[in-house]
Amino acid sequence: MTRTLAAAACRLCGSEQASQLSAVLRDGMEREVAQRPYRCASCDFVFLHPAMTDGEATAFYEGAFRRRYHGEGYDLHAFHEGRRDEAHRRRCALRAEGLLSGRALEVGCATGAFLQAVAPEVASCRGVEPDTAQREFARSRGLRVASDLGELGSSAFDLVAAFHVLEHVSDPVGFLADLGDRLAPDGALVVEVPNVDDALLTLYPTPEAVRFAFHPAHQSYFSAATLEAAARRAGLLPRVVGLQRYGLGNHLHWLARREPGGQGWLHDVISAETERSFTGDLVTAMACDTLWMVARRAP
Ligand SMILES: [Zn+2]
Repeated sequence: MTRTLAAAACRLCGSEQASQLSAVLRDGMEREVAQRPYRCASCDFVFLHPAMTDGEATAFYEGAFRRRYHGEGYDLHAFHEGRRDEAHRRRCALRAEGLLSGRALEVGCATGAFLQAVAPEVASCRGVEPDTAQREFARSRGLRVASDLGELGSSAFDLVAAFHVLEHVSDPVGFLADLGDRLAPDGALVVEVPNVDDALLTLYPTPEAVRFAFHPAHQSYFSAATLEAAARRAGLLPRVVGLQRYGLGNHLHWLARREPGGQGWLHDVISAETERSFTGDLVTAMACDTLWMVARRAP
């Protein structure tokens, strides 16, 4: 049912008409926050409403979010090691696109796994990470990491990357414009986000997968169309492609067991050929789990 929200509810087009998609959030977080997911009736953008103020966001990340997801004194080294496979995949993708050579900046670099992976191949690399513990970990590995974009002065970059960051911000167009402002004239902005058109939410949705998809730390949920629209509104020329990070076993696990954690399930039954065919079909249908955007500044 479409209903009227508070003024300018859609952070992409400003429409006040939207439909609520779910009454629940991941891990019962609907008990911690007032936000619920909505789909804009005008542009299809999916977002949490009402938007958190900066103060509410800080209180959430330092309170309920930290208690639930990081605990006290979580193992940063294990966290860092767990991100190395994704860092390798992203380095290979960027190398294939010829984007690894000049000055690189990663916004939301966490402990620096990606920066470490690409450092030997770029002229220079910088990071931005607001989380103090993760930033200090990255610095302890010799990486140059600032706490926010403002600390970088007027530096421009040939590559600006933000992997699974854009979905966390409540003003995606403003954030993309800020990243675009950091690009050298021929520079490329590379953004990776989850795809809201994921088959687990569209082709064979279960209540459990839908609950899992909506997370209070994720303010924005993009399809290829809404990601491109956000980039254009930010003065960028985007190209968006799909990719599939989770395999057939994970999807069968969702359908059979109704819970996450099935990556690699049935690996002794599902052949590599079947896996490639399945994930390739999801990408072709754009029902894959991840979107990869390369954007340049509009002339
Ligand atoms: Zn809209």
